[in-house]
Formats: sequence, structure tokens, C-alpha cells
Amino acid sequence: MKCSKCGSPKVIYKQEQSGQILCKECFIESIESKVIKTVRKEKLLDRGDKVLVALSGGKDSVTTLEILNSFREMNVIDLCAVTVDEGIANYRQDGVDIAKRHAERRGIEHRVVSLKEDYGITLDEIMQRPKHRGSCTYCGVFRRTIINKAAREMGATKIATGHNLDDEVQAIMMNYLEGNTNNLTKLGAKTESDAEEFTVKIKPLREIPEREIGIYVVAKELEVHFDSCPYAMQSFRGEVSELINQLNEKHPTIKYSTLRGYEKIKAAIKDEMQNDYAHGRCSRCGEPSSNELCKACSFLEELGV
Ligand code: SF4
Ligand SMILES: [Zn+2]
Ligand SMILES: [Zn+2]
Repeated sequence: MKCSKCGSPKVIYKQEQSGQILCKECFIESIESKVIKTVRKEKLLDRGDKVLVALSGGKDSVTTLEILNSFREMNVIDLCAVTVDEGIANYRQDGVDIAKRHAERRGIEHRVVSLKEDYGITLDEIMQRPKHRGSCTYCGVFRRTIINKAAREMGATKIATGHNLDDEVQAIMMNYLEGNTNNLTKLGAKTESDAEEFTVKIKPLREIPEREIGIYVVAKELEVHFDSCPYAMQSFRGEVSELINQLNEKHPTIKYSTLRGYEKIKAAIKDEMQNDYAHGRCSRCGEPSSNELCKACSFLEELGV
């Protein structure tokens, strides 16, 4: 077998959807140019942006940092990073340490912020409560609020997350299966901000399958945190992910077709939906909110924190 691009016999990967067989160098090049293509097509970056990377230390966020750094080296953008410590024992600390090392290696301004410091409670403590809404519900809301706050404090104009093709397809299917049509309209490579105070979020890896990101970090010899969160499989997302991956075995283009199909119907459903954009401020913490309390604070009240 020879590389479809350069003819090298040292092939490492066969791309199911395109049928291409690639050597290490051509594989790395294909991922990077695909991400750059998404950045250009979706107009994710503007010259002079300061992009905050939500850097967990996992493969997706490390890849995001690595590829966006090429734009920084060309003086198109500036970069900074934030790592959220949710307080998950025997899991998060390794990611935090790896994130720190990447930021240091690249000379990028980096902050670590924790749920404990910001809200006085860890995710593990929440999960010990007899009544709770499931780990990922709290984790998602608190993390989003913390990262948005960090972006404002660090003067970032955009927030880049490591969402890959699998994450995006899972989100589309989850919102659809739960009948959550309002959230369904908000997915995309570049989120339209809920309010002026919410920094625009971008997803440069949105068209790259998770598996290919795993191979990319190995090929580039990037240090990443490969463990998965102990709460991951308890989640609805975990179930949906399993289902999509089962389908993908027989239908290798299904993730792309789900994404493309979603893009086509997005515009139509958006017109039908009334967006619940946040116009006011939370009376407890001052973050943007459409209700008296923002989501994070209403959870805190419910938990009695
Ligand atoms: S799996 Fe859920 S609890 Fe774990 S880090 Fe992800 S969102 Fe948070
Ligand atoms: Zn090659
Ligand atoms: Zn609040």
C-alpha cells in the first residue's frame, strides 16, 4: 500500500469516507489544511483577534491550540488559554498539568480556574448529593460561565473550543431526540452570541472526526490526557455516541451527512424559533441572563450553596 498523495510506502491511515490512504506527513497535512479550510470557510478568525482556547489537556483542545498557534505565528491572531478544574478526583489534575505544560511550551498566557474557587463546590461534591441533575448538566453550565468570565477578564475576542465532528453530531442528535429545538438552532462552527457580554465561540475542529484527532496527536507526538471522565458513560451523550458509532461502522459517511443535513434545516428552523437571547443580568452574580438568576446561580440555589 502506498500513500495516495506522495506515494510513500509508510502509510498510517485509511480515511473511510474518502478512501484515501495516507502516510504520517500527508495525514498531518490533511488535518491541518482541513482545519484551516473550516477557519476560512466559516470566517472563524479576524485579523487582530485574541483567541482564548478552552484547554482541558485532552486531545481535542491540545490540537486546537496547536493549529491555532500557526495563525499566531503568522501574526494573524493572539492566543491565550484557560483550563477549568471541575473537581473530579483522579481525573482532572493530569489534564491541568498537561495543559500548563503546553501553554508554557508555546509561551501562551494561561489561567487555571476551579469550580471550588468560583462556586465553593466541586463536581464530585455535587454528585454526592442525594438529588442532582446529572454531572454533565452542571459541568456544562458552570464551565461555560467560568470560561466566558475568563474571556472577558483576559480581553479575548473569541473562545475556541475543541469540539470535533463526533461532538457536533452528538449535540445535533441529542437536541433532536430531546425535542430541544431552541438549542438545536444555536449549534454551528461559530456561535452567535446570546448577548454582547458572551464572547463568540468558534469550533475549528468541527469537521474532523474524533478518531482522526487521536491519530493526529500521536503522529505529532503531542502530550495529551487520554483518560475519559469517570462520569462520561453515565450521560445521555455517552448513549447517543455509542449509537452513532454503531451506525458509522456500516455507514462511514453518516457523521458528515448528519452535519450537512443539519446545516440545511438550520436556517429554516431558526426562522420558526423565537430565540431566548439573554438581555438582562443575573441578580446574584451579574452575568448575562434572560431570567432573574442565570443557569449557574439557579443550580447553586437548588444545591443550597
Ligand atoms: S463527561 Fe460530563 S462531567 Fe465529565 S467532563 Fe464531560 S461534561 Fe463534565
Ligand atoms: Zn504521503
Ligand atoms: Zn448568576
